[in-house]
Amino acid sequence: MDYRITAEERAAYKLCRRQWDFSSPHRQNLEPVEPPAAAVSAALREALAVYYFPGMWDWSSQIVLPLVRQAFIRAVAGQPPSAERSLNFDLGTALLERYLAWAPSLDDFGPVRVETEVEAMVPDADAPDRGLCTPDGCAVLYLDTVELLAIDAHDELWVVSHRVVDAWSDPRTLLLDERAVAACWAWEQCYLGMGVAGTIHTELLASPAGGLGSPPSATATGRPGRGGYPQHEGSGGGRGVGVPERASAVAARLTDPERTTVHTSGPVRRTHIRRGRAEIEQAGLRVATEARELLDPALSIYPSPGRHCLRCVFDAPCVALDEGADPALDLVARYRAREASRPARLGSGGRGGLLPPAP
Ligand code: SF4
Repeated sequence: MDYRITAEERAAYKLCRRQWDFSSPHRQNLEPVEPPAAAVSAALREALAVYYFPGMWDWSSQIVLPLVRQAFIRAVAGQPPSAERSLNFDLGTALLERYLAWAPSLDDFGPVRVETEVEAMVPDADAPDRGLCTPDGCAVLYLDTVELLAIDAHDELWVVSHRVVDAWSDPRTLLLDERAVAACWAWEQCYLGMGVAGTIHTELLASPAGGLGSPPSATATGRPGRGGYPQHEGSGGGRGVGVPERASAVAARLTDPERTTVHTSGPVRRTHIRRGRAEIEQAGLRVATEARELLDPALSIYPSPGRHCLRCVFDAPCVALDEGADPALDLVARYRAREASRPARLGSGGRGGLLPPAP
């Protein structure tokens, strides 16, 4: 059986090895019996997968927006019952309505795919033209789910993500968003020939200060309604992306485009970051180096305390270990084996723009 490393597992490993050891499906594979309250951003992500679903991108807003709101309500209703769920509903509704009002003034692309799972073969860091294998000969794969792949007017592809933030991020932190760059690498490995130009980071302010005023009536592309590029135009997501780039669109590209551009409209900010070939390839090599660490039976496991501990669901057994106690009883009482299945999502069954066959 292939050895799969998810983007979440990789992030957990880099944050704190002890937390990763508790949660990784390749280690103790534990999750709390009482799941923590789900974040509002998870429900918003479900709603935006409907908003940007390529098959409905050209539909009237009067049809699509109710479906978007329904998807959000369904996502919140599916979260574990808790006081936070009601808060999530109120906050998320306000955030979603703001996004629906302001995003058209920033959307300068057409959606190609939403919520697409990518699975890339991890190279051997010592011989990058070969795949890394476990000691018993199984392939090592890296998995992530790309929230949105979009195409711009110049036929360039972008990996797009959305985040709810308390304050705008420093662009330097977005430049160093290695999960996003690794997603570009994984996409290119999964769909050969589909080079990714960069990443688009969308931030939605949770609590904008002061009055926002009215949202702009003009869209970024001049297209009425939700803006963006329509599906029936060459420069939209409807065109099969396996089709070669149009010569006219390639010729119209800037010869020396800005590495980073930031556009803000009310409570929404978009940061476009171009990712070069070397940067994307380096991301793959970094995944390869870390994968070899994960496979090392002699890997040291130690805690890395920090602010992230406030959100850690393994804080009690972690403290017990630090005190020299045996957390076994606590682990049996409060944790269970993590379930492997993930809910089916719109677009995860191969819907959206036409893609070249996987290698
Ligand atoms: S509480 Fe902090 S140090 Fe302990 S496992 Fe969790 S993240 Fe790591």
